[in-house]
Formats: sequence, structure tokens, C-alpha cells
Amino acid sequence: MNFLQVNDLCKIYGAGENRVAALDHVSLTIEKGEFVSIIGSSGSGKSTLLHALAGVDRPTSGQVLLDGQDVYAQNPEQLAIFRRRQVGLIYQFHNLIPTLDVVENITLPVLLDHRRVNRQRLEELLDLLGLAERRTHLPNQLSGGQQQRVAIGRALMNAPAVMLADEPTGALDSRNGQEIIRLLKQSHEKYRQTLIIVTHDESIALQADRIITIADGKIARDVRRAARV
Ligand code: ADP
Repeated sequence: MNFLQVNDLCKIYGAGENRVAALDHVSLTIEKGEFVSIIGSSGSGKSTLLHALAGVDRPTSGQVLLDGQDVYAQNPEQLAIFRRRQVGLIYQFHNLIPTLDVVENITLPVLLDHRRVNRQRLEELLDLLGLAERRTHLPNQLSGGQQQRVAIGRALMNAPAVMLADEPTGALDSRNGQEIIRLLKQSHEKYRQTLIIVTHDESIALQADRIITIADGKIARDVRRAARV
């Protein structure tokens, strides 16, 4: 079974003269554990697609199925739980809570879910992200790269099946950007997560198993790299 399946997805904004088809009959399937990059010019519909996959932006029509589950057929409460447990969403601007320290920011989704923090996973993530020495620091006591690592930790804390990143390196210099991509790949390999990254950076896109190009709300190209040996 396909892990992530998108059937004839449309997202229409506005009406009349202002009507924009941000997604125009998009269908695609993604396997479990795949690393996919989504590229395309600004305004082509990349973020809209990512948010539709993440369960945060209801499409006008069409379906998103994750592991056989029809994401938007769920009631609002089920959808909120789905978002907290199944997907890890990472943005360019990390949306950390300024008054919470590193550990509190990372464990926030677990606490919101009324679940106990898996201490072993927390320690593993702090090590993986190089934040073990920074656990009690507030976001404004961290560099941009470190803040982005906290955002990744937060997205990973619930061990989501899918990691979705929207221009995760856009606000970083190239060295920190590469470091973030290395961490995302490491986590994707270690936890066998599906990783989907929207990027305009070709050097990042080329590291994926598959590159999907979006143009005018449609899939213009979908290219898999030859299997690596
Ligand atoms: P990308 O991520 O590729 O830059 P987006 O998915 O953000 O593109 O946007 C796709 C199209 O949908 C653009 O034409 C954009 O202007 C339009 N759009 C996105 N969000 C909204 C919105 N909330 N209201 C109206 N139009 C929107």
C-alpha cells in the first residue's frame, strides 16, 4: 500500500477575477521512508501542497490518505491529534515559544497531547541535535541554527511518521543550512521517517531520492534518482 497518497487535490483561493488554483488536480503517491524534495518557482503551490499533506490546510476537493487514513475525513479533534502525532512540520521561522527553554519547547507537543515525555527519546534527540549543553537556554540565548535545531527536535519528539519542512534553511547561512539538512537526513534514516522538504536550494533538492517540480499548481516533473549503491 502507498504510504502517502494524494488523489486529485485542488485548492482554490478567491473567486471571480481573484480566483487562484493553488493546487490544480494534483495526484501523487509517496512510499514510507522516502526522501522527497519539492521545488518550483515562488507562488507555484509548494507550501499549499505541504500544508495539505500536513493536515493544516483543508483542500477544496480531493483526498489525502496517510497509511490508508483519509486525513480530512476526520473530525476537528481527530485532525488535531493526527497533526500532533503523525506529522512533524518545520518552518523557516521556527515559531519557538520565547518564554520556554530548549527542553520545554521540544516537549511541548507531548505535553499538549497529555502524554508522558519519553525521557530516553528526549536525551537521544538532544544529543542528535547537539543541544545537550543548551537544555535550559531560552530561544533568545541561542543562535539561529540552534533555534532551528530546537524546532526540529519539537517536530521529532512525537516520533512522527512524516517530517514536512517548508524552506527549513531559508533563514540560515549555508553552513548552518547544510547542518540542518544533515540532521533531517540522519533522523529520516535513523527513524525510517518519510521526509518531504520544500526548497528553492538546488543543492538540497539534489540530496533527495526524488524531486517533484510544481508549476502553476500542477506537478510538472517527478524524477527519481537512480538507486544508490
Ligand atoms: P509557493 O509555496 O510555491 O511559493 P504557495 O503555495 O504559497 O506557493 O501559493 C500558491 C498560490 O496560491 C500563489 O498564487 C499564492 O498567491 C496563492 N495563495 C496562497 N495562499 C493564499 C491565501 N491564503 N489566499 C489567497 N491566495 C493564496
